[in-house]
Amino acid sequence: DVSSHEEHLSLAEQWVARNYNPLPVVIASAHGAWVVDVAGRRYLDALAGYSALNFGHLHPALVAAAQQQLGRLTLTSRAFHSDQLAPFCRDLAELAGKELVLPMNTGAEAVETAIKTARRWGYLVKGVPDGQARIIVMGGNFHGRTTTIVSFSDDPLAHDHYGPYTPGFDLVPYGDIAAIEAAITDDTVAVLLEPIQGEGGVVIPPAGFLRQVRELTTRRGILMVADEIQSGLGRTGTTFACDLEDVVPDIYILGKALGGGIVPVSAVVADADVLGVITPGSHGSTFGGNPLAAAIGRAVVSLLATGEYQERAARLGKVLQDGLESLVGRGVERVRVRGLWAGIDVDPALASGREICERLLVEGVLAKDTHGSTLRLAPPLVIEEGEVELLVDSLARTLR
Ligand code: PLP
Repeated sequence: DVSSHEEHLSLAEQWVARNYNPLPVVIASAHGAWVVDVAGRRYLDALAGYSALNFGHLHPALVAAAQQQLGRLTLTSRAFHSDQLAPFCRDLAELAGKELVLPMNTGAEAVETAIKTARRWGYLVKGVPDGQARIIVMGGNFHGRTTTIVSFSDDPLAHDHYGPYTPGFDLVPYGDIAAIEAAITDDTVAVLLEPIQGEGGVVIPPAGFLRQVRELTTRRGILMVADEIQSGLGRTGTTFACDLEDVVPDIYILGKALGGGIVPVSAVVADADVLGVITPGSHGSTFGGNPLAAAIGRAVVSLLATGEYQERAARLGKVLQDGLESLVGRGVERVRVRGLWAGIDVDPALASGREICERLLVEGVLAKDTHGSTLRLAPPLVIEEGEVELLVDSLARTLR
């Protein structure tokens, strides 16, 4: 239906604020790893809602959990208990090996919650003078879009013209343990990092870095805060990307896939000696931990508890890695792969990342560029082996 396609694009042009520049595809339905546009054309989804759709579109167990809860109770606010919240928090805490869960909605809200928790921990537990707490953050970071979070972004697109900015953050190069150590002062309360930088281009730190951060933060008595919003919940072939180095941070920040691609669900997960500094009235959210979100989040956790999705990501990630590595030197300069997550640096002389995505669209594959000529692939973990091969073959054709 070409007229409908054109109509939607022109409606969007007129009415939708321009904070994104979407590819010219208008999606009307989806199932598993595939979406269908208004003209009935199928596309393989190799972005999966920036990893919010780790379990694919309309996963039957997640849809069932949502539908069941929709017929019973959707919102109580946190002024009252619901019969969904505590079981969800218990299951998620057990998955993460932690004691407490603080539920929020979007990823950025959970990052804000972790920042507030770390600062409050600094004042109430570590004894930092009030108002002085500092948090060490990484170059190339992406943690969301709030004014505080963009204050410490070094991406001009995300950062510029949104000041005045929130102070209290020290930026060091990602993967540089000596720089972190040098940045620590008496007022430092935490190191905040992505175990793998997603928006940065699936940037994997040097081997051993996460372990070094764990050792350093423990030794210096500050918190290690891992933003696993994009890297966590199965994507890398493990439940958390920190698991790749057998590291347990003090605080996990989770989001995206926690809501199964159905509703926004995020959370901060930590032990009571850290998260216990948040007391009644000191933080909250009208929708955070609502019964619908909790029911879906709990169903997500039970999918992850089987280990099936982590195993798929690891096994099919190897297929993806082998396929992508065969393209190095044939239009691809470098690839970085962990599980079903890949950053691909295309030869800039050949095409921009955006151009490759436009060509992939013609091939029937949805993907997203990050910066310049870098492409990011993050297909749903329900993808089949033949579809991974299709993905690699499609990419190979766009490079010719
Ligand atoms: N943190 C990381 C690592 C992310 O990748 C993102 C989103 O891409 C966020 C935080 C922000 O999440 P949200 O867009 O749900 O606010």
